[in-house]
Amino acid sequence: MKLNISNLPEGVTQHELTGIPSDLGLEEQFFDTVALHVTLEKNIRQLVLSVVIEAKARFRCDRCLEEFETTLRPELRLVYVWNELKTAEFPEEDVHFLKHDDNSIDLSGDAKEYLKLALPLKAVCREECAGLCASCGRNLNAVPSGVCDCGPKESDPRWNKLGDFMETLIKN
Ligand SMILES: [Zn+2]
Ligand SMILES: [Zn+2]
Repeated sequence: MKLNISNLPEGVTQHELTGIPSDLGLEEQFFDTVALHVTLEKNIRQLVLSVVIEAKARFRCDRCLEEFETTLRPELRLVYVWNELKTAEFPEEDVHFLKHDDNSIDLSGDAKEYLKLALPLKAVCREECAGLCASCGRNLNAVPSGVCDCGPKESDPRWNKLGDFMETLIKN
């Protein structure tokens, strides 16, 4: 995903880039369009880019095991300086360097890195997800009370029959 920087005016400009996940080398978890909303500030020494990335990804909920989709919106700030200024003034590692004849900036690598960092370590479909019943494995989000009724109850006919059977064994 490349941003054209030829003939940019000095000052602040807005840019919209769109692509698909495979443009960034992202695996199937990501789908649909990846958008980069770029605010670029140019001056004689550097380009400063504030980028909001928007990408949709699929997850499996750690609690209820259902698949869900969510939009990730990581933000990043990138500084590109003209190569001639290298060593002395910008020792920081996260500064990128540009040659004067560069006419585009490839944002794919940085966008990919930030999207991967934005992936949650623990994916939960929603904060109040009730998860699965510990005894029967039923999805409790589908149970209005949130409490599963799977446990054996005294009124359960299967247990009554077993009770009757045990009684006859004892009697005989
Ligand atoms: Zn869930
Ligand atoms: Zn249950």
